[in-house]
Amino acid sequence: MEKTDILSLELPELEAALEAVGEKKFRAKQIYQWLHVKRIFDFDKMTDLSVQLRARLKEIFCVNGLFVQKKLESSIDNTVKYLYRLSDGNYVETVLMEYSYGHSICVSTQVGCKMGCRFCASAIAGFVRSLTPSEILMQIYETERNSGVKVSGVVLMGIGEPMDNFDNVVKFLRILSDGKGNNFSLRHVSLSTCGIVPRIYELADMKLQLTLCISLHSSDNNSRSEIMPVNRTYNIQELLGACRYYIEKTGRRVTFEYAVISGVNSSDADADRLSDLLRGMNCHVNLIPVNKVRERNYRTASTAVADFAKRLGKRGINATVRRTLGSDIEAACGQLRRDAAKQNQEKGGADA
Ligand code: SAH
Repeated sequence: MEKTDILSLELPELEAALEAVGEKKFRAKQIYQWLHVKRIFDFDKMTDLSVQLRARLKEIFCVNGLFVQKKLESSIDNTVKYLYRLSDGNYVETVLMEYSYGHSICVSTQVGCKMGCRFCASAIAGFVRSLTPSEILMQIYETERNSGVKVSGVVLMGIGEPMDNFDNVVKFLRILSDGKGNNFSLRHVSLSTCGIVPRIYELADMKLQLTLCISLHSSDNNSRSEIMPVNRTYNIQELLGACRYYIEKTGRRVTFEYAVISGVNSSDADADRLSDLLRGMNCHVNLIPVNKVRERNYRTASTAVADFAKRLGKRGINATVRRTLGSDIEAACGQLRRDAAKQNQEKGGADA
């Protein structure tokens, strides 16, 4: 019998799994607390369970751990980047960032990505598979354990498109925020998407209190389709319609991410079109200097971000400039994984 991945189970599912093998349902709560509160993943150490039950748990369940393959620490701003090896030999990246108010963690949701955004290193490395809820969760648990830091913010902005792994991401969010377990407030979670419109509606209807971030990167359909192929399926107007619905349903402000790329989306006309699109919306624009990706020569001219922000501000659109973190450790998503995958391939290992 294949073992069940215990960290991907919500409490009622764990109860059902125990009952199905003739164990007492109430034990589930104890086990769930060992896992998500005490962060003990070795059944033998769950000392308030009988030795027989511990042996039984080992037969039924497995814990898919993550292993630190590489850890890079920025000497500029204390950003730490982890390359984690998954139990099947694939890799994902997780970044721990320090802010004045605490630490935030950026987690991956897939091994690679199908979305093909032109400026993104994850797209270049290709798609392998989606992560399980436990693999997303364990990036947080393992990073907290390894670093000794308690994170106060979680962003789903690592490798992968969260809305392309919707069910597992939602399950991850439920387990992360479960009051009977880890109890992390979704108000401190941001989910970033390139704009898979039907999933935005679905998420809105769940009325979770998380922050929705939209990778917009252009205010013009032709140029957005050029750099983000997803726009050919769901254009800017459809995307903004879904965002309005999200705001109406959840009462939450939406964030638009915009990497200012010289010669692509950085002109005054681009800024003016963007402000016309967003006027009246409960939103915020986060401007990002583009991260260098080896295979592409996208760049941001030195004053381009500030100029763009000023232009938006004059037209009443609230914009902030995202601080560049970890610039000395290749913190742009996907670059480490791609290198590791390449090396592994040369050796004939896993990962495409
Ligand atoms: N797939 C999701 C989340 C992962 S990407 C999404 O598209 O939102 C996280 C953010 O980093 C997105 O806003 C993405 O557009 C941005 N990003 C990717 N590559 C970048 C680069 N080279 N420079 C700046 N931002 C980049």
